[in-house]
Amino acid sequence: MAARPLFTNRLTTGLGGVAVAGVGAVLYYRFMMPTAHADSGSPPKAFGKGPAFLSLKLESSVPINDNTKRLRFELPTQDTLTGLSISSALLTYSWPKGSWLPCVRPYTPITYAEEPGVLEFLIKKYPNGKQSTHMHSLQAGDTMRFLVPIPGYKWTPNKHPDVTFIAGGAGITPMYALIEGILRNPEEKTRITLVFGVNTDADVLLKKEFDAYAQRYPGRFKAVYTVSNPMPGSPLRKGYVTKELLEEVGASPKVKNTKVFVCGPPPMEAALMGTRKQPGILEQMGYTKDQIYKF
Ligand SMILES: Cc1cc2nc3c(=O)[nH]c(=O)nc-3n(C[C@H](O)[C@H](O)[C@H](O)COP(=O)(O)OP(=O)(O)OC[C@H]3O[C@@H](n4cnc5c(N)ncnc54)[C@H](O)[C@@H]3O)c2cc1C
Repeated sequence: MAARPLFTNRLTTGLGGVAVAGVGAVLYYRFMMPTAHADSGSPPKAFGKGPAFLSLKLESSVPINDNTKRLRFELPTQDTLTGLSISSALLTYSWPKGSWLPCVRPYTPITYAEEPGVLEFLIKKYPNGKQSTHMHSLQAGDTMRFLVPIPGYKWTPNKHPDVTFIAGGAGITPMYALIEGILRNPEEKTRITLVFGVNTDADVLLKKEFDAYAQRYPGRFKAVYTVSNPMPGSPLRKGYVTKELLEEVGASPKVKNTKVFVCGPPPMEAALMGTRKQPGILEQMGYTKDQIYKF
């Protein structure tokens, strides 16, 4: 999930005067006049295919646990939709005080695409993390700039009758967006198993939402939480995501057209997907490369 800044020195090198003027004009227009795209007759959309450079006002920032906040931004009008495809991320931009360089990082909105007027994120703060610290410092009324959408997994309804999502920590956000998009589509029949591995009980983000989906879609959605460092008396399963756990919840490469999605911190992804030196858990279980998608 870690991302490197993308803008380093690029804006200052290699651009001729005319290009600079042109880019400057576009940036000025976009930065100073954030607008939504609208197709005739349909609700306006905040993000289209290309760059947006949209500045959005923070409506609220709510702590979820000691390292994660839920940030809710207002879209330009109350009927504006995000316009993002399922599980897309957005590149955010800030220029932290005292920093020589701007900071650009992707984050995956958790707002349902059909919900108008808002854009929500779960942001985990990392020690000395530039953008996550900046976003945690924002107060209601402050603004944040969103540059461009990054397409997520190109989901085709009912292509995979049975899917397993394996998430760790803040890696849950693209999974949540995909699960929400699948379950809320009345045409869909896909069965989903979510395996969510975290450090502590408080790190089980979006549990209320997942438990509600499990109740509402029995037989189509189940969630299993496993905590490496549970609190005393925790009702949740203890430990990491293991081969035994995945087999127990029914993940199997033999299910026709199955697919497994992975998104988590580097050690978890290495354990599941393997390293140059050793095969991962999924390969040991018999999953082939084309059955696995890593966000
Ligand atoms: C497509 C995509 C979608 C993403 N969506 C989300 C999201 O919805 N919510 C969210 O909270 N994050 C998300 N991320 C991660 C996010 O983009 C940043 O990488 C993260 O917030 C850290 O950025 P930073 O500037 O705060 O930290 P940096 O300044 O880049 O790093 C500071 C320190 O934190 C460590 N660090 C950075 N990232 C991680 C990590 N993932 N695990 C462990 N240590 C780390 C670094 O090694 C460094 O020591 C997403 C990443 C990608 C690629």
